[in-house]
Amino acid sequence: MASYADFHRRSIDAPEAFWAEQADLIDWHKPPEQILDACQPPFARWFVGGQTNLCHNAVDRHLAARADQAALIAVSTETGSERVWSFAQLHAQVQAAAASLMALGVGRGDRVLIYMPMIGEAIIAMLACARIGAIHCVVFGGFASGALASRIEDAQPKVVVSADAGSRGGKVIAYQPLLDEAIRLSAHKPSAVLWVERGLAPLVCQARRDHRWAELMVRHADARVPCVWLEATDTSYIIYTSGTTGRPKGVQRDVGGYAVALAASMKHIFDGRAGETYFSTSDIGWVVGHSYIVYGPLIAGMATIAYEGLPTQGMDGQPDGAIWWQLVHKYRVTVMFSAPTAVRVLKKQDAALLRKHDLSSLRALFLAGEPLDEPTARWIGEGLGVPVIDNYWQTESGWPILTLARGVDAAQAPRLGSPGVPMYGYQVKIVHESTGEELAAPNEKGVVVIEGPTPPGFMQTVWGDDERFVNTYWKSIPGKLVYSTFDWGIRDADGYYYILGRTDDVINVAGHRLGTREIEECVAGHANVAEVAVVGVADALKGQVAVAFVVPRSGLAASDEQAARLLEGEIMAAVAGQLGALARPARVHVVTALPKTRSGKLLRRAIQAVCEQRDPGDLSTLDDPASLQQIRARVGR
Ligand code: ATP
Ligand code: MG
Repeated sequence: MASYADFHRRSIDAPEAFWAEQADLIDWHKPPEQILDACQPPFARWFVGGQTNLCHNAVDRHLAARADQAALIAVSTETGSERVWSFAQLHAQVQAAAASLMALGVGRGDRVLIYMPMIGEAIIAMLACARIGAIHCVVFGGFASGALASRIEDAQPKVVVSADAGSRGGKVIAYQPLLDEAIRLSAHKPSAVLWVERGLAPLVCQARRDHRWAELMVRHADARVPCVWLEATDTSYIIYTSGTTGRPKGVQRDVGGYAVALAASMKHIFDGRAGETYFSTSDIGWVVGHSYIVYGPLIAGMATIAYEGLPTQGMDGQPDGAIWWQLVHKYRVTVMFSAPTAVRVLKKQDAALLRKHDLSSLRALFLAGEPLDEPTARWIGEGLGVPVIDNYWQTESGWPILTLARGVDAAQAPRLGSPGVPMYGYQVKIVHESTGEELAAPNEKGVVVIEGPTPPGFMQTVWGDDERFVNTYWKSIPGKLVYSTFDWGIRDADGYYYILGRTDDVINVAGHRLGTREIEECVAGHANVAEVAVVGVADALKGQVAVAFVVPRSGLAASDEQAARLLEGEIMAAVAGQLGALARPARVHVVTALPKTRSGKLLRRAIQAVCEQRDPGDLSTLDDPASLQQIRARVGR
């Protein structure tokens, strides 16, 4: 087998030949006439003239070989329920849902907003949209009305699919008041709302507008709804970015390129095989959920587990720090996908829990979403005894940009602290943020950019706003039309990349630029630190200084000032010793929680704003407002 470097080089030198081969991994109703149309950069149109359908590739295509095999496994430790749909059952349910949506007037190109918890119906609704060519727009369940209203206004859905409630850690969140308020706030009014009743919260249906999922599904139980053959370049869905750096962007994705990209990634990156089980602990509200709970595994003919609940709670609602591993054992999971933030939650518990169940089926654990610090990577890797593969990507990319392609070259070794190397199709470079000059020498810090044409699966544009797409992503590096990831990184002499933080978060101490990641990594190395955030705070003398906020691992009450001081001193000394005095935080504050987005990403900009007494900006994605209050109290603002 050719080396991965050759594989990658071919994808860049001969993209059309390369991707024409990958296109054979999916079913086409009509094969593409042109593999790539890049005549209007930075827009890249893949598989022009081809016709296909995501739902066909995820469901119908597998009926011949695996109709009775499990396709969707929905587990909720919130309600203690476990439901399994075979491919044949999923096929029937998706058709009934498609017929229900059609009965509400939904057709090709119409938007359907899905505001739902992690239940099987949410995934069935997504597939039903894909089947009839409606564009789904999944909004993370439980988002507050304001955030939901702005997405309703932006996506202009004809229909909203929702549920009576979600639940988290036993706390029920009724969706109807939130959705009703969002619709009231929005200038756009959907014509219908379809409600799944879980029996968790009361539901009051408005005549004409509101419909019950169960009723429509019964009415259309035997519906035969063929897949609508879509152009490869049609839009499949809209998804909003996490909003870590500001107002979320509506990412618009295509049909054919996405299907091919996912099929290729299942083979080359995740090495997941038909008939096996894939378990991603993410949520369908995020891109990881779209690509690797719903479409990726199903396109590959795998069963997929959708999980509702905390990582530390059992089917009976009681604490169980080994629930995920119990599911791995029960369903013989071969590939698992999670996030560093979830692993850090597990890390607060006994490592022995990782070995409580038989994990012999598991081949690898993939983690993405945030920098994977070395202590966390080591802890989980040693605990599980399987390779832990970091992968770096964005909502915009739809699939990994940097990782290891284990399906191409299994011998490629992960390197602690690095998500890996550029994936096939991605021409990744490090450039100087103000001159745009390429930094080709190893270990030079700069902005991570992607040279066009971007590969299949990559965002088509910002929904309804080509200008914002071009101006936001492609015009930030002077003199060059390159896609900026807005992440700061380096590449080592062997071609492995390291992400040092977001360009917005770079700390400039007396003219030296430091990535927040570099300092956080060092702080996280302290045995008593579970989580850390480092931000740059304006300083009259040095321009900026680093300030750290840490959540201790155990045995330290946030109110114990003496112990906190001791920890602060140790952390300051460790950073000064490893990175130099410039990087040493001016203060280390002990807190019990850090402000994060709903997707679990550190909201450094909000922390920084509080430290600098500024307005923290759009907080619609902030998960736990108390965490920011605590920081206010700590810094005396
Ligand atoms: P917004 O774009 O709205 O500010 P966001 O960037 O957090 O929000 P996402 O698309 O969910 O939205 O996250 C992508 C970002 O997450 C990347 O640009 C990077 O900063 C970070 N990230 C993802 N995976 C990794 C990883 N493996 N290592 C380091 N950082 C990562
Ligand atoms: Mg982003």
